[in-house]
Amino acid sequence: PDRILSGMQPTGNLHLGNYLGALVNWVKLQERGAECFYCAVDMHAITMPHDPAALPGAVRSVAAAYMAAGVDPKRSSIFAQSAVPAHAELAWILQCVARLGWMERMTQFKDKTGSDRERASVGIFTYPVLMAADILVYKATQVPVGEDQKQHLELARDIAARFMRDYDCEGFWPLPEPIIEGAGTRIMSLKDGTKKMSKSDPSDLSRINLTDDADTIAKKIKKAKTDPEPLPESLDGLDGRPEASNLVGIYAALCGTTKADVIAEFGGQGFGAFKPALADLAVAKLAPVVDEYNRLMADPAEIDRILEAGAQRAREVAAPVIAEAKKTVGFWG
Ligand code: ATP
Ligand code: MG
Repeated sequence: PDRILSGMQPTGNLHLGNYLGALVNWVKLQERGAECFYCAVDMHAITMPHDPAALPGAVRSVAAAYMAAGVDPKRSSIFAQSAVPAHAELAWILQCVARLGWMERMTQFKDKTGSDRERASVGIFTYPVLMAADILVYKATQVPVGEDQKQHLELARDIAARFMRDYDCEGFWPLPEPIIEGAGTRIMSLKDGTKKMSKSDPSDLSRINLTDDADTIAKKIKKAKTDPEPLPESLDGLDGRPEASNLVGIYAALCGTTKADVIAEFGGQGFGAFKPALADLAVAKLAPVVDEYNRLMADPAEIDRILEAGAQRAREVAAPVIAEAKKTVGFWG
């Protein structure tokens, strides 16, 4: 049977990219009857400078956003990563399996640290190994993520394969498959069509947050960077126009159609016409999510109960896997 693991960092407001690139697929997999584990990855969140006092609240907020997007806590386990110590235990074992050369080929830590290697945490470098542990500790078979996580997924597969080869335990882990599906797998910044939309982008105008109200969404889309040309009449006319391509992609993802469909409808029109249509669509699609999020956040004690129940379930499923992994490497405890 399919077992799904995915997570988001409680590092700020979830945005349209998180929603279209990941959450929409999380809900689809749940509806297909897969066994789903969706965590708020607070251990990943401390790899960058953070405010300790704000972190528990951010976990709660992420959990509420999952549920507002359609994750049902009765069917899917929602929990905080740090509430399941097996993630950290397995991460250490896997750090001794992953090769330094593999890690140095990862691009995310380079994007996140820039040239400041001196002050970057070691955690930002080993982040993908913790992510491999997140997945493997549940023997997950599929991992729904955005395009930016593809490289990390491949690393998780390499680490699993290497562990099984080195310790002669073929079949211990299924090799996890990435699920990178739909038109929203790589939503770009509204201010720069060559940079992905991110929680950690300092400019709030670069993203549409799941908590933005209708006026804010409309304002951000209106201010989104574009070029002066109207939309092209055919799809290949978007080549070399990253901002136009991104807005068309967002429209397609929100509708569940393709960029070609959007061009068929809006080709030849200027942004003066397209942007208001996009804003209306975004507001219509996000309003129910925002309303539900606000309703859930009004009862934090209930969210905490859901997080505890989810963690309990996650600990149960992880327990035999971490026990076996420890035995395999020869640990005493
Ligand atoms: P941060 O800037 O803190 O890394 P983030 O916006 O990248 O935040 P994550 O918590 O790292 O968000 O990622 C959560 C999920 O959302 C992952 O599956 C990731 O692939 C997906 N995701 C993040 N950004 C985008 C995007 N711009 N388009 C599509 N999917 C995205
Ligand atoms: Mg990220």
